[in-house]
Amino acid sequence: MPLENDKMEKIVSLAKRRGFIFPGSELYGGLANSWDYGPLGHALKQNIKAAWWKFFVQERDDMVPMDSAIIMNPRVWEASGHLQNFSDPLVECRACHRRFRADHLLEMRSAEPGYDKEAPIDFSKMVCPECGGRFTEQKNFNLMFKTFIGPAEDSASVVYLRPETAAGMFVNFKNIQQVTRRRLPFGIAQIGKNFRNEITPGNFIFRTREFEIGEFEYFIRASAWEATFEMWLGEIKHWWKDIMQVNMDNLVWHEIPDGKRAHYSKRTVDIEYQYPFGVKELHGIAYRTDFDLSRHEQMSGQDLHYTDSETGEKFIPHVIEPTFGIDRMLLVALLEAYHEEQAPTAKEGETETRVVMKFPRHLAPIQVAVLPLSKKEELAAAARPLAEELRKQFAVDYDETQSIGKRYRRQDEVGTPFCITVDFDSLNDKAVTVRERDSMQQTRMAIAEVGAYLREQFEN
Ligand SMILES: [Zn+2]
Repeated sequence: MPLENDKMEKIVSLAKRRGFIFPGSELYGGLANSWDYGPLGHALKQNIKAAWWKFFVQERDDMVPMDSAIIMNPRVWEASGHLQNFSDPLVECRACHRRFRADHLLEMRSAEPGYDKEAPIDFSKMVCPECGGRFTEQKNFNLMFKTFIGPAEDSASVVYLRPETAAGMFVNFKNIQQVTRRRLPFGIAQIGKNFRNEITPGNFIFRTREFEIGEFEYFIRASAWEATFEMWLGEIKHWWKDIMQVNMDNLVWHEIPDGKRAHYSKRTVDIEYQYPFGVKELHGIAYRTDFDLSRHEQMSGQDLHYTDSETGEKFIPHVIEPTFGIDRMLLVALLEAYHEEQAPTAKEGETETRVVMKFPRHLAPIQVAVLPLSKKEELAAAARPLAEELRKQFAVDYDETQSIGKRYRRQDEVGTPFCITVDFDSLNDKAVTVRERDSMQQTRMAIAEVGAYLREQFEN
């Protein structure tokens, strides 16, 4: 098995074993490609969202937040084009009735020797990868989840779960611009759940039917689009390099060529990542012109023009839209953090493999572990108050079971940046040992200084 596939399996297994991510509804045999975030996964996700929010919203004076409804008036999706166009080409196996995305089948086939990608697509000549059966004609399959509002299950009560958060920001543009009295340029941001009835989800949390997006619509004058696009590309690089701290060699900046972009977009860049299963999309940024607001103006019959309060100019703003999949960012955080290293054991000259998740400190689900050397009551009497004090500022785990070496390995495996050991000397010298995750260096320091030391470490 190639090493990289192996890495994916290791991540999935660690995620389950340590409570990052469980298969969804596992008690009932699961539900295809649904996943539940456990205690550590929840904490990691919260930390990623908080960092995203701080970087892209809180620290800027040109962004305002919102939180729009998941179920919207279906006319919103008519205006956005999702009802007409948000579909995947689908073929169904006549024998086993499994459905496949036509483009994914072609992708699989393109890996075969002698494949001619210019040749016309003829699915009747292809066979089902599962059973060898023949395919139906290609059909379009809308990816929006449909449901009904109220008790009547008729066409008048059909609604959809949102497939993106953007629409909520466009339909509230006028409200928000008026109440905040913002002048261009400014952005509206939100983080929220989205739903897409994907035909072939997969690769763990890479493609799921229910997922979270962090996204903003940045409203500008048409003349500013090129410079603004560059500004946001720069901010996105800053985000990956300094906040998420990924190896930038693992990112691919894919400029989408003419003819491959949505018809209204003048520039789109997909930010791709080298996953163990291939180079695939991580997130994107698109210049959407004035397409969205114009469509909503047409469909709603409401005036969505912006009037500049100083110059009096009246026009429909253009928009640049950076979109980030939260779950994909979390997958990348797991992949980047995963390390296997040789580390010394308690025995002289012996080493063992340690698995260590080298999360950036500010993303680590547990920041500090307080570990009394043994379960003895006098150690707990010193360790518990320290843990209580640290909990006011940090995510703290208190663990007193098993040997100290095993506990260090357990904390390494979930990426805890600092372990604090309280031993019998601590009772006399009022000092503890602080161990740093990556260097495994141990420092003895006064209990009274631990809080300030950790604050400083997490600021860096
Ligand atoms: Zn089949």
